[in-house]
Amino acid sequence: MNLAPILPGGTLGVLGGGQLGRMFVHAAQRLGYFTAVLDPDAASPAGRVSHHHIQTPYLDAQGLERLAATADAITTEFENVPAAALEALAAHRPVAPAAAAVAIAQDRAREKAHFASVGVACAPHAVIETAEDLAAVSDDLLPGILKTARLGYDGKGQERVTNRAELVDAWGRLGQVGCVLEKLLPLSFECSVIVARGADGNVVHFAPQRNLHRHGILAVTEANDSILPTVLARRAVAAATAIANGPEYVGVLCVEFFVLHDGVLVVNEIAPRPHNSGHYTIDACDVSQFELQVRTLAGLPLVAPRQHSPSVMLNLLGDLWFDPADGHERTPAWDAVLALPGAHLHLYGKEDAKPGRKMGHLTFTGPTVGAVRTTALQAATLLGIEPF
Ligand code: ATP
Ligand code: MG
Repeated sequence: MNLAPILPGGTLGVLGGGQLGRMFVHAAQRLGYFTAVLDPDAASPAGRVSHHHIQTPYLDAQGLERLAATADAITTEFENVPAAALEALAAHRPVAPAAAAVAIAQDRAREKAHFASVGVACAPHAVIETAEDLAAVSDDLLPGILKTARLGYDGKGQERVTNRAELVDAWGRLGQVGCVLEKLLPLSFECSVIVARGADGNVVHFAPQRNLHRHGILAVTEANDSILPTVLARRAVAAATAIANGPEYVGVLCVEFFVLHDGVLVVNEIAPRPHNSGHYTIDACDVSQFELQVRTLAGLPLVAPRQHSPSVMLNLLGDLWFDPADGHERTPAWDAVLALPGAHLHLYGKEDAKPGRKMGHLTFTGPTVGAVRTTALQAATLLGIEPF
């Protein structure tokens, strides 16, 4: 990648127009950049707020040409972007992260091989491509979770299986595509680490945050300086740094971990971009994950971010837009929530609320861990989110 920085006044591009692209655009614009988004949807969250919105499919040659002509450097907001699109752009402009690094995160089998190559432990697993592979899996991996190797997200493309008959059925339901069978591990809790790595090899990170998933979707992230035992936090940061250094990654990378009942740390998966578990950094840190994405893309210096307040982030899923009593559509009580101290509401501008759809998030900051938990729990009650 070109090491001369693209200074504010330049144009930064992003493939994909979802909420992550939107928050990237906000961060870039605040720093004085112009922005370009490529997304086929006229109403995409990022397209609506960007200076330029190229409305074509991700593999449309003309769309990609226009993006390369408009933007000085280009990033992506989702890992399932076709590698060919990133490669086409990279022929004209700096692209970060590179297609080769994104390809690791696109495939669970490659991802796990990468973890092994940098010496970071993940769940015991088997790669399944054929019926013979399926028949040969060790009994040790059951009960387990069968996950499609590609294109899974938010718990989609996964089935829990307890025996071989269920495993065969589940593989059939998943379309007999390439899969990974992972042993079901006894989780004590989950956490993640977000690192940013520059083209010069400099790496900065946020402290690990603790994540609660419900139905395979992130529900709550808590971040404060006592959320993890120090030794565990240090190990998680070292593992995330090794994972980013391996492929000479450039950009923001999130590494998700499991902490097992016996305290052992195991890596789950990576996302080659800012992550839902890092949204709190917008309001609780002096530099957000999205500003770090801008800085890595533009080749600007990276400074270690500092968290100035304990925080709790609640995901706002489309379910909240429906009255549980009668199923009628409603507008959540934002006015009541905004009356709570330290409430920071982020809505992504999506028109249709659907159950499980990420519509926004709410971050609470406060003077103490106790205060911030109390207000976040009050908001959860007001909105109809299960307590945590
Ligand atoms: P994401 O939206 O984070 O990309 P995903 O669909 O890729 O999610 P995973 O992160 O693989 O899915 O799994 C979703 C959740 O399922 C995890 O956060 C964890 O709670 C649970 N889970 C996944 N794998 C295992 C495992 N091997 N043992 C126990 N629980 C697991
Ligand atoms: Mg996950």
